[in-house]
Amino acid sequence: MTEHALVTVRLKEPMVAGKNPRADSRQDSHDHVPGSVLRGALAAVWLREHGTAINTSPEFERIFEGEGSFGPLHYASSKPVPLSMLTHKYEPTFSCKQLWWDRARDEKESHCPVQKCASPLEESKGQPYGKVPSVDRTMVALSTDGVALDGSLYSQRAVQDGLLLRGWVHGDAVRALYPEGTAVDSLLLGSRRSLRGEATVEVDTEAIPEPVELYGDDLVLRLTSPGAFVDEFGMPSATPDPEELSEQLDVSEVEIIDSWTRWEEAGGWHAASGLPKPVERVVAAGSTYRVKCAEPPTETARRRLMARGIGLRRREGFGALYRCEPPWGISAFTGHAAALRAHPELVSRFRARLEEIRLDNADDSRFDDALRSTEYDERIHQAIQAVLTVKDAEIYEQILRYMEQNR
Ligand SMILES: [Zn+2]
Repeated sequence: MTEHALVTVRLKEPMVAGKNPRADSRQDSHDHVPGSVLRGALAAVWLREHGTAINTSPEFERIFEGEGSFGPLHYASSKPVPLSMLTHKYEPTFSCKQLWWDRARDEKESHCPVQKCASPLEESKGQPYGKVPSVDRTMVALSTDGVALDGSLYSQRAVQDGLLLRGWVHGDAVRALYPEGTAVDSLLLGSRRSLRGEATVEVDTEAIPEPVELYGDDLVLRLTSPGAFVDEFGMPSATPDPEELSEQLDVSEVEIIDSWTRWEEAGGWHAASGLPKPVERVVAAGSTYRVKCAEPPTETARRRLMARGIGLRRREGFGALYRCEPPWGISAFTGHAAALRAHPELVSRFRARLEEIRLDNADDSRFDDALRSTEYDERIHQAIQAVLTVKDAEIYEQILRYMEQNR
């Protein structure tokens, strides 16, 4: 088994992953696949293939109840805006160069410096990056015994089918992806009996995680799922354990010098006993830490930490990490977009790509011929490449509208 694996799922059906795994009536649902849902879906395959007796075997316990990590599966717009970010309070203008400012990197503006805009900035609440592709599904409300309640039809938001979602599995948990020796290729995701959430699965053991961010000797760690930490007395802590970090990063000493966090409560479901777990205080997804290291950790250690995550309950998807840089405003692209206006045949290809970007599934190969073609000069080649770097559907759509103006 490799130390980590990148898991990519494509939803074949809409998925509802409830935030409270117990109640099956109206409730909030997740806009991504939490690590606990991935783990539950994999455990179900194991129990189906090997019989329920396997859940008391030492191997099953090591894989599903051990030190491994089942990270959440996200697409670009479902990741949280880090709590360290300052964002535009009002809609950014076409002239804005930057959309967010990162206090974890000492950016402390109070207003957007572009005069035309001058929007005050506000602190991120950890909301998703962008619009979440979703569909409304009509559901039948169930009692806590799982019996349909008469006349209790209601509509609930489900994550849209067609989406690609990705995340990391680390350590002993990697074995979970191989219920019969070969990698699992489909799963039923989600916590609703009335929606199946069928998905195809790709397991990539060659993929290399990005390293966590390093600025000089300081790391910036950002949580893409809630984090569960305790202090030396076992009480909930808002910050990770420096000893865990120094051990995992292989540096002699680390100190958490700044943090942007928010408390929330997390329940859970203990599969083996069939009982709910006590509610715990955890820090919210998007929580961010600036960590001083006695010496800069190696790139290998930073990549390993990215796939592993930090803190407790990593097997339930807690403590997963991601990288995030403030996105550029559309003004960074208007020069390129203006050049492309003269080529409506390219603009229509960019238009066709919009829906794919929304599903985090863009096929950029449709530009291969144009990028090789001598029909277009170097300036156009660069403009195509610049617009292809945009992964945020809302900014992409603004650029598209700019290209489609005044042709
Ligand atoms: Zn602005």
